[in-house]
Amino acid sequence: MAKLEIKNLTVEVAGKTILNDFNLTINDGEIHAIMGPNGTGKSTLSKVIMGDPNYKMLSGTIYYGDQNLETLTVDERARLGIFLGMQMPLEIEGVTNADFLRSALHAKEQQNFKLMPFIKELDTVVEQLYMNKDMIHRGVNQGFSGGERKKNEILQMYLLKPSFVILDEIDSGLDVDSLKIVGDNVMKYHDEKNPGILVITHYQRLLDYIKPDFIHIMVDGKIVKSGDASLVSYIEEHGYDEFKKKETKKVVSIGTCAVKETLKHE
Ligand code: ADP
Ligand code: MG
Repeated sequence: MAKLEIKNLTVEVAGKTILNDFNLTINDGEIHAIMGPNGTGKSTLSKVIMGDPNYKMLSGTIYYGDQNLETLTVDERARLGIFLGMQMPLEIEGVTNADFLRSALHAKEQQNFKLMPFIKELDTVVEQLYMNKDMIHRGVNQGFSGGERKKNEILQMYLLKPSFVILDEIDSGLDVDSLKIVGDNVMKYHDEKNPGILVITHYQRLLDYIKPDFIHIMVDGKIVKSGDASLVSYIEEHGYDEFKKKETKKVVSIGTCAVKETLKHE
C-alpha cells in the first residue's frame, strides 16, 4: 500500500504534448474521479501511469510510495500493485481467460500461487459479476460485448488484488444493470482491500455507485478545478465550457469565421 504522487508531469504522444504540468496525489484508500472533455488526455494519464512506452515523459515525476516509476516496465508496475482497467480492453487470440489469469497471478505470486483457491475464487467472482460461466474458457475478450469486456476488467482486478486501481471509462458500454454490478463490485473491492482508486468517467451515473472523495476537472492536459462530489452535478448541468481556455475558443471561432468568409468569396 502506498500513495501515488504525480508532480509537474508533461507527456508527449506522437510528437504532441498532451499532459502539461500535471499534478495529482492519491493517498491509500482515497477515490478520485477525473472528468473532462474528449481528447483532453485522460486515457493518456492512465497509460503513462501504467508505463505504456508510446507515451513519453518529457518532465516531472510519478512516484508510487518511494518508488520512482519512470524507469519501470508495465510488468514491474503491475507487480508493485498498480492495475489499469482499460477504456478499450484488448482481445488476446488463442489464450483463454482462465489461462491468462492463472499466468498473471502465477507471475505475481510465484511459489505462493495455489491452483485450487484460484479456481474457487475465479468461480466466486464470475458469479458475483453475473458473468456467463463459459467466458472463463473463451479467448480473452474474444467475441465479448463492450459490457462483457468491462466486467472482465473487473474480474482481472479482483483476482490480481492490486493496491492501486485505475478505471478508464469502465462505465462505457454497460447497461444500467451491469453498471450497478460493476460499480458495486468496485466498492466491495475498495471496502475489502482499501486501494487508492482513480476513476475516469463522463457520467454521474457511475459515481452513484463508486463514491469519490475528490472530483477533478481536466481540460487540455491539466486539472483546472478540484472539489467534492457536488462538482459532478454542476458539470452535468453546465458542461465544461467555462473551464476551457478563452483563447482556444476565440481561435476556433476566428477559424470558423475565416472558413465562412472564404466560402462566401468562392
Ligand atoms: P481522453 O481520454 O481524455 O479522451 P486521450 O488521452 O485518449 O484523451 O487523448 C488525448 C490526445 O492524445 C488526443 O488528441 C489523442 O488523439 C492523442 N493520442 C492519444 N494516444 C495517442 C497515440 N497512441 N497516438 C497518437 N495520438 C494519441
Ligand atoms: Mg479516454
